[in-house]
Amino acid sequence: MENIDLALKEAEKVVKRQRASASKTDDCLDKLIQEVAEARKQISAPGANVNAMMRGLNENVNKRDIIKDIADYTKELHGAVNKLGKAVDKAFVQDICAALRPVQLDEGIIDQVIAEHLYQQGNFTVGDTFVEEAGISNSAALKKPYTAMHAVLKQIIAHNLQPALKWANEHQERLIASNGEVAVHAFEFRLHRLQFLHCLQTAGPAKALEYARASFGPYQESEMAEIQRLMGCLCFVRRPGASPYADLMAPSLWSDVAREYSRQCCGLLGQACESPLLVAVAAGSLALPTLLKLATVMAGQTQDFLTCSQLPVELELGRQFVFHSVFACPVSREQSTPDNPPMLLPCGHVLCKVSLQKIAKGNVRPFKCPYCPAEATLNSCRAIFFPDI
Ligand SMILES: [Zn+2]
Repeated sequence: MENIDLALKEAEKVVKRQRASASKTDDCLDKLIQEVAEARKQISAPGANVNAMMRGLNENVNKRDIIKDIADYTKELHGAVNKLGKAVDKAFVQDICAALRPVQLDEGIIDQVIAEHLYQQGNFTVGDTFVEEAGISNSAALKKPYTAMHAVLKQIIAHNLQPALKWANEHQERLIASNGEVAVHAFEFRLHRLQFLHCLQTAGPAKALEYARASFGPYQESEMAEIQRLMGCLCFVRRPGASPYADLMAPSLWSDVAREYSRQCCGLLGQACESPLLVAVAAGSLALPTLLKLATVMAGQTQDFLTCSQLPVELELGRQFVFHSVFACPVSREQSTPDNPPMLLPCGHVLCKVSLQKIAKGNVRPFKCPYCPAEATLNSCRAIFFPDI
């Protein structure tokens, strides 16, 4: 949008410049006509020296800069038109296919990813139509877990946490196996906490207290501080404005719990909480301007954009698109691999194994770190491992 606004501003400038240029050019032409008419009158007089008259006309026109002025006004107008052209190009990139590299895509898998995305987002009607049109055979199995997930999510949005609690209870063993007991316990407690607060707001303190007695028992040890805050809420039911526990009444708690439930549920399904298709499309859109620029710059060069195995520039997409830690060796500029892991020198600098072996020339011979005066031997260096974020 911003680019379209800029293009519109440039278009306004062109219109203004065109009007100014037209009126100034008209003035110049009038002057020129005047000069020519004057010269013509003189030439038609008896005994006139035509050559001298023509020379005079030429000199007059040059002296008054008439032709130069017309050229200047036209140049200014062209400048503005050029700028508008560039702004329009920027606002409407017409051919994004220029950034398309020939990749063999498995259409069957792509169809499945799209269908799964639609079901994961809860767009069941669209998903069903897509599945039918794409001829996906295992669609029922694809859809079933998400139908159950969205049934629970719908209840959470309607402020009913019982189905979510039931789900957490039924899947407790698997949740603990993948997330650990502490995290699962905390998740269950957050569900109970919200149910308690909802009870307090809709049914009053007596019912809320009853719910707390029935549900908070298993969390007494791990969540005592939070349970105390919840009990504190009971005193401020009639004066919510004065409550120091107002944060516990924030409507966003419901969307937080819904998101957390989705994450847990997708985790058990072996799926990322964020739709992989959405992530891929978002990353592609961010990279597109750079890719288009590269395609233009690299066109006709020896290293072709369409066939090069590695892009000559790094595409920074931001932290939200970083899913794994990456280490690039400062010496070779290559990314580490399991065969070429990052190695920690005793001084604290890190190089890839291959670079280190080249510098060390042997296991016991001391060598100087390329980044500081400290010495090391290959035997004193350790491979390091980055945990996935
Ligand atoms: Zn060092």
